[in-house]
Amino acid sequence: MKKAAQSSMRLPIMLVVAAAVIVVVVFGIRAIWHKPDASTPSSNKTAGVVVVIDPAHGGSDGGSTAEGVLEKNVTLAVANKMSAMAASFPGLKLVFTRNSDTEMSDAERFAVASQQAAQLFLAIHVNAFGQPTALGIETLVDSVHKAGDASWSFADAVQKSVVAATAAKDRGVKAQGSAFSRLTIPAASTLVGFISTPEERAKLIDPEYQDSIARGILQGVANYVTSAGVTPASATQTIPLDNGQTAKPAGTAP
Ligand SMILES: [Zn+2]
Repeated sequence: MKKAAQSSMRLPIMLVVAAAVIVVVVFGIRAIWHKPDASTPSSNKTAGVVVVIDPAHGGSDGGSTAEGVLEKNVTLAVANKMSAMAASFPGLKLVFTRNSDTEMSDAERFAVASQQAAQLFLAIHVNAFGQPTALGIETLVDSVHKAGDASWSFADAVQKSVVAATAAKDRGVKAQGSAFSRLTIPAASTLVGFISTPEERAKLIDPEYQDSIARGILQGVANYVTSAGVTPASATQTIPLDNGQTAKPAGTAP
């Protein structure tokens, strides 16, 4: 009796197991079948939003100087810190206009942006003032821009993030005439502190403070990319530069 009951239970258990196996196999096949849909955007994401980082000045152009500290060295140090932490921001593909003490014209810097199909352009500068009391960080956009447009929102995201990362005085986003009027992608210059003010100059040459600036800038760029919904450009996309002209990314078919 006991044995008969056991064997009569075996059939329903086997049916349940067989049904479970079928469900797992069917859903497994469905998951594999649907993978191409999911992998298309993720492979684009690997490419990242192309962001040109431009450490201003270089070579015989030292930028602002004070007490032997040169703007060109501070901007390059911050850019090199950003390069070192790029892996922490996988949604961004960083392109640097220079990674050594090289002199470059604005045209050469913009050519890098054009060749690399840049989607965002951010220059790094250091501020200077006649009185050794000015403090803080500010981010500039060209005077063609108004609060709420793409360049202004980009500048605002970077400004807020760098101020948060450094606890420096917030001088806000300002518009002024510049060569950036030639760029039709969102572009800004962040001025990361006053070389002319002793306490801020000391911070600007401190590697840990440079780290904070670099992380703040990258987080700000990432915040803008998320809030504005910027997605990596397709390889064949042409990038408008120099008002009215377009440039094809390097290495793509005409
Ligand atoms: Zn400068």
